[in-house]
Amino acid sequence: MTINSPNNDKLAALGGTPVFSTRPSMPWPPTDEETRRAVAEAYSSGIWSWTGPWEKKSCAKLAEVHSARHALLMVNGTVTLEAALHVLGVGPGDEVIVPALTWIATAMAVVYVGAKPVFVDVEPDTLCLDPELVAEAITPRTKAIIPVHLYGGMANMDRLMALAHKHGLKVIEDCAHAQGGEWDGRGLGSIGDVGSFSFQQSKTVSAGEGGGVITNDDELAERLFRFKHIGYSSSGVQGKAASGPPEGLVCHNYRATEFQGAVLYNQLCRLPTLTEARNRNADFLTNLLEQIPGVRVQARGLKATPGRQSYYNFMVLIDSEFWMGATRDQILPALAREGVPVNPTYGTVHRHVLWNLPASEYRIHGEYRDKLGQSCKISEEIGTARAIGFLHFYLDLPLPDLARIAEAFVKVHRNAPDLGKVRW
Ligand SMILES: *Cc1c(COP(=O)(O)O)cnc(C)c1O
Repeated sequence: MTINSPNNDKLAALGGTPVFSTRPSMPWPPTDEETRRAVAEAYSSGIWSWTGPWEKKSCAKLAEVHSARHALLMVNGTVTLEAALHVLGVGPGDEVIVPALTWIATAMAVVYVGAKPVFVDVEPDTLCLDPELVAEAITPRTKAIIPVHLYGGMANMDRLMALAHKHGLKVIEDCAHAQGGEWDGRGLGSIGDVGSFSFQQSKTVSAGEGGGVITNDDELAERLFRFKHIGYSSSGVQGKAASGPPEGLVCHNYRATEFQGAVLYNQLCRLPTLTEARNRNADFLTNLLEQIPGVRVQARGLKATPGRQSYYNFMVLIDSEFWMGATRDQILPALAREGVPVNPTYGTVHRHVLWNLPASEYRIHGEYRDKLGQSCKISEEIGTARAIGFLHFYLDLPLPDLARIAEAFVKVHRNAPDLGKVRW
């Protein structure tokens, strides 16, 4: 299939007719009658928290979809990372490898347990941790790795797990973007020791706020439960603990409510089908976009199960050289004026002031910085100059609208020499 010729050649940003006469909109978060009834039922039942029936059903579904034995809900996808680090014994003096390109929560959770985040660059195609560089960054103090399955990519779990085994490291998969994803037939989050999910408003599965952890390890599951449940162990019975907190255990109240369980259930049931449909639409759009010079789409996971690449953003990478030198920061607003619902990517987390103050105890590990000569170049480039994305739910647009997105890229590409004339 080839791309339609754009409607007229004058950029909307310079007064031309936009490719979309109205900006496409998709309803998000999703709502349906069954879920409305579930929430009302939870409300009337008087069971509002503490291992209620909807929480249990959603946990079972979360585990099933991601091939794990256990799943637990918590208040958000930041404390799930903290909980995972804590129960895996990560603490003061330890280093934890995290990607430089991610949401800040991945690194911040490391700080919560008193450990030091060590930032490692990403691969230029998947935008996920580069295993080669991870190997270089491992020191005797390294205790864990947190691969993030970013936007619509997957970290190379085979190579990262091999490194972890070789060096005796724990692996926490940050699956905040990876709901429904499968690597080589296995649910993401179930390959490392613990998988951590976010159900924040914009995420692929949402409860407004919320988080989930999955694990195949019975003992870790029990520790995770105690950690979020102020030390009490799970009896499986609503409102009843099997035993109280053991002495000396640091623990939190990170319990989610029954309402979050009720809101999540149907979304989790639909997730595999939704993911497959989005994979088909992403294929369609990728095929169109990659006909444009200087346009690449973020690569799917090397061993993504067909139809089970998860998407949080559909991420397009621009090479300015093929755009007459036009920059991402000119191209992105020009696309927005054509009606494409675009957004830039996260900034690079390794630049965050917390770990860059000269006196900060969280400062980037010096040795590592010296070894590379410069820090995290790919993340820097992607974050500041190359990435243009749109959120997952736009992949549900009808194909003619997706084709129009490609058309808008062609139009802006053709008019690249004019981008310098636009006053934003
Ligand atoms: C959203 C997100 C989190 C944190 O989730 P919250 O539920 O917002 O606390 C963690 N990691 C990544 C990569 C995220 O995008």
